[in-house]
Amino acid sequence: MMAGVVRSFDTELDVAEVAVPAIGRHEALVRVDYSGVCHTDLHAARGDWPVKPTPPFIPGHEGVGHVVEIGDAVTRVAVGDVVGNAWLWSACGECEYCETGRETLCPDQRNSGYSVDGSFGQYMVVDSRYCAVIPDGVEPAAAAPVLCAGVTVYKGLKMTDTKPGEWVLISGIGGLGHLAVQYAVAMGRRVAAIDIDDAKLALATKHGAEVVVNAAVEADPAARVQELTGGVHGALVTAVNGHAFPQAVGALRRGGTVVLVGLPPEQFPLDIFTTVLLGLTVRGSIVGTRKDMTEALDFFARGLISPTCSIRPLEDINAVFAEMQRGEIDGRVVLDMRA
Ligand code: NAD
Ligand code: ZN
Ligand code: ZN
Repeated sequence: MMAGVVRSFDTELDVAEVAVPAIGRHEALVRVDYSGVCHTDLHAARGDWPVKPTPPFIPGHEGVGHVVEIGDAVTRVAVGDVVGNAWLWSACGECEYCETGRETLCPDQRNSGYSVDGSFGQYMVVDSRYCAVIPDGVEPAAAAPVLCAGVTVYKGLKMTDTKPGEWVLISGIGGLGHLAVQYAVAMGRRVAAIDIDDAKLALATKHGAEVVVNAAVEADPAARVQELTGGVHGALVTAVNGHAFPQAVGALRRGGTVVLVGLPPEQFPLDIFTTVLLGLTVRGSIVGTRKDMTEALDFFARGLISPTCSIRPLEDINAVFAEMQRGEIDGRVVLDMRA
């Protein structure tokens, strides 16, 4: 099969012929039709984070395809079913986090396209107990971005602890952020958006953002959001830039919550006095559980979420990464793996 393989952190992906993977008892072999390209795949390929994957590996954790073979212990999916992989490839099922519905915190989890080969190959292996089951009748290419971008922002929005009618700020209107605007609107929130690119902000407006602020133009983006909204009740930061994080904190109303989702390899200063006196909450959020995935896909299947996708061949992956690095992608790129 053809696959995009990371051979080292300082070379381009090698699009090459590799062996079709073998499956274990609880696993299914999936013929991949489409795979979204998440900024996490770029971080993985570059070795950006403190915990690094081990080359050679195949990135990709937004893969949608057909089950072609199942292991002898598989009950949840059958040959022919349309399924997806997810960042949470599997978890142990037995630790205190798994037992309490917090499987994304499992210390023994495995991650698609990171510690397990992912969906930038024509075939991938999924753990049948953890893969996503794609609802009937949806467009598979458009479903791909829901598998990471969608579920991550849906869960992240829940983590803001906001209520319908309250303001949320979405910072970074890329693959994750353009879906975050849509989930927030579908969940009844009022949306403010920050990005550094007017084209991204136009996408936010199209999907229902009432307030948009260009952080590359506005001298004090946080103050501008405060002025236009009275301070947001919650904020979700998907931006791949450290400067966006203190701006989101600065846009909060008293008692507000900022949820960190973007993962630039940087730090940001948190002002102790303001955080204490204004009663702010700063928390991280990592993808979503299988239940979050089912809910996020259900919003999509009901037509409430319309990912902006451009379809590209696997051979373009290095060009796609370069465009992502330069911030030139509107919405999500989805690789057509069927060729
Ligand atoms: P993307 O490249 O599609 O989008 C990033 C967006 O950030 C772009 O629109 C860009 O213009 C914007 N941006 C850049 N600098 C900014 C700034 N200073 N202020 C505001 N916006 C700015 O990336 P993506 O696929 O949406 O991923 C975003 C981040 O989220 C990545 O770091 C990725 O690894 C991370 N991520 C985290 C989780 C999680 O579970 N926590 C899941 C998926 C992705
Ligand atoms: Zn992702
Ligand atoms: Zn566990």
